[in-house]
Amino acid sequence: MLVLQGIAKGYQEGGRYHSVLERVDAVVREGEFVALLGPSGSGKSTLLNLISGIDAPNGGSVRIGDVELTAMAERERTLFRRRHIGFVFQFFNLLPTLTVQENLLLPLELGGGVTPAGAGRAEELLDAVGLGARAHAFPDRLSGGEQQRIAIARALVHDPLLVLADEPTGNLDERTGEKIMDLLDHMVRNTRKTLIVVTHSRDVARRADRVLEIHNGTLTRASEPAGQTPRRAAPDPPTGPRTRRS
Ligand code: ADP
Ligand code: MG
Repeated sequence: MLVLQGIAKGYQEGGRYHSVLERVDAVVREGEFVALLGPSGSGKSTLLNLISGIDAPNGGSVRIGDVELTAMAERERTLFRRRHIGFVFQFFNLLPTLTVQENLLLPLELGGGVTPAGAGRAEELLDAVGLGARAHAFPDRLSGGEQQRIAIARALVHDPLLVLADEPTGNLDERTGEKIMDLLDHMVRNTRKTLIVVTHSRDVARRADRVLEIHNGTLTRASEPAGQTPRRAAPDPPTGPRTRRS
């Protein structure tokens, strides 16, 4: 499903190259749920941006199914992302000027237009996350947990191959976070989609089929068994202006 080979990524800063990822290799199977751990600033969000094609690596290749993302121009990557990838973010990232329903339909609009089947799917998903009655509400009327439920529905509405979640419970209390993970886990497994979740939470990691950890720029299997580190570390600060979405 997803093959990362020899990924390297760094940033030019003050005339100096600052390496973030080196030699990242991984294979994720279809339908697999992978948790991605690593200290703040280790490159987790950077890696998700490379997997989704928001950003391009300095070296190495990203393949999703038969598609070599790293051989595509940015415009092609954007189209691929809109069609085939779903995102869930720490701060939900719903558009405040759109209603819940309009937020949900947005990935369809960006992906080529809202068909009757697509609109029906959006409605079903809204019901599935338990917010069918809130279709015409604006996001600021919803609690954090409710907003994240909408964001999960939005991530699935265009039937993506791959769902990427960047600390989806990082801004929720523990109980709400647990419910959100139940929902995400359940909805993704039901549709046999592949899920990669960046998290600091051992509870979240424990649900995954596999736990990978970024350490010194490379990806390794998580070293310590689940449950030995604090249950919930502080979430990372929001990633700056580079988290473009489209
Ligand atoms: P994480 O998500 O694991 O907390 P990030 O992937 O956000 O880490 O960042 C990894 C490192 O790359 C950090 O040192 C961060 O400052 C740096 N970084 C990320 N994006 C950029 C950018 N666009 N320009 C410069 N440095 C960046
Ligand atoms: Mg991050």
